[in-house]
Amino acid sequence: MLINPNLTTARPTFVTHLECSMTGERYEADMLHGLSRVGRPLLVRYDLDAIKAAVPRALIDARPTDMWRWRELLPVRHTDNVVSLGEIETPLVPVPASGGLNTWVKDEGRLPTGSFKARGLVMAVSMAKELGVKRIAMPTNGNAGAALAAYASRCGIETIVFCPDDTPEINVREIALHGARVYRVNGLIDDCGAIVGKGAAEGRWFDFSTLKEPYRIEGKKTMGLELAAQFGWKLPDAIFYPTGGGTGLIGMWKAFDELEKLGWIGAKRPKMVAVQASGCAPIVKAFQEGVEHADRWEGAHTIASGIRVPRAVGDFLILRAVRESGGVAMAVDDDLIEEAVAFCAREDGLLLCPEGGATLAAYRLALKNGLVSADDKVVLFNCATGLKYPMPAANDAIDKDGVIDFDAL
Ligand SMILES: *Cc1c(COP(=O)(O)O)cnc(C)c1O
Repeated sequence: MLINPNLTTARPTFVTHLECSMTGERYEADMLHGLSRVGRPLLVRYDLDAIKAAVPRALIDARPTDMWRWRELLPVRHTDNVVSLGEIETPLVPVPASGGLNTWVKDEGRLPTGSFKARGLVMAVSMAKELGVKRIAMPTNGNAGAALAAYASRCGIETIVFCPDDTPEINVREIALHGARVYRVNGLIDDCGAIVGKGAAEGRWFDFSTLKEPYRIEGKKTMGLELAAQFGWKLPDAIFYPTGGGTGLIGMWKAFDELEKLGWIGAKRPKMVAVQASGCAPIVKAFQEGVEHADRWEGAHTIASGIRVPRAVGDFLILRAVRESGGVAMAVDDDLIEEAVAFCAREDGLLLCPEGGATLAAYRLALKNGLVSADDKVVLFNCATGLKYPMPAANDAIDKDGVIDFDAL
């Protein structure tokens, strides 16, 4: 059995160059790049006309639905360099009780390593392999480090991972078990990022921080490509995305643009809703103030560790996409997140991660304040399996040798 049948049939990729997301300056493809000269993310550009001529949309429809179905819109040149663990298309799970009849959860917890970080890291690691990288370091709140360690170990790249010392225990152990050297740091993810940056400047390793290499966005972009195909090439009305570094939101926005240029979708865009936690909401603050860049959020705290990101290098890209889409950035309190997770688990049978719970809580607020209506088709992102996070205690016990009150069970 082939893990990815699409990799045997797809045509080569169509990358032309990379481009600074701030200045538009051009960078050569097939070379190792970090940030652009002005310190901003690089975006991968493709010959979309050539793709349009070579790959009719019907061909995509006819392929198996895994992530490599989109091969021509992705950067890896040589199939041998694709380091795969079986990246499936994730299902849209209806949540009629907790969301409503037009609400679906895109359940990313089913991807390798249990989170959508697999999408970004399978691409970034495959490109690192293609470009000859031998050692990678990364700051992480947990899931990215796990995906990096899994894919990199699989292809013999060495990894060193730094995470805040209160990162969920299961993530730290998962990273270690996948063969990375993982260190707990007494700080937040940007403090970890500073250590990675320092080592990279000394030439010790390649810096794999969010958006500091160009290919994670391309992997995350596949969420947008998948949504288009799953909704019959008409996008939903709104997307609620738990926003940390914002890679997925930026990636989906890029995907929609490419799909329209290919003529595969029209001009209609979903409202992009960037969801953050009230205890760490730099993008929400910048959105409300009408500014293009976000200040560092001091004293960041939330149970949704994946979105505890005080500072995002792609802040302006997130804000731009949200504003262009007619969406908003909104924050929800941790107690609403916990309530949403519990409600969805109990009523809809779907266990969300706290970040996924944040999108559900935000959706309910948005319904209340009229930002979306119950008729709108809405997608909520659940970015990791809820099984990776601490859950409320369940301590009721039975003494098998005592008298059991069956009526009370
Ligand atoms: C990383 C992560 C996020 C945030 O994703 P970005 O695209 O970096 O904003 C949200 N939820 C979970 C579970 C994550 O691991």
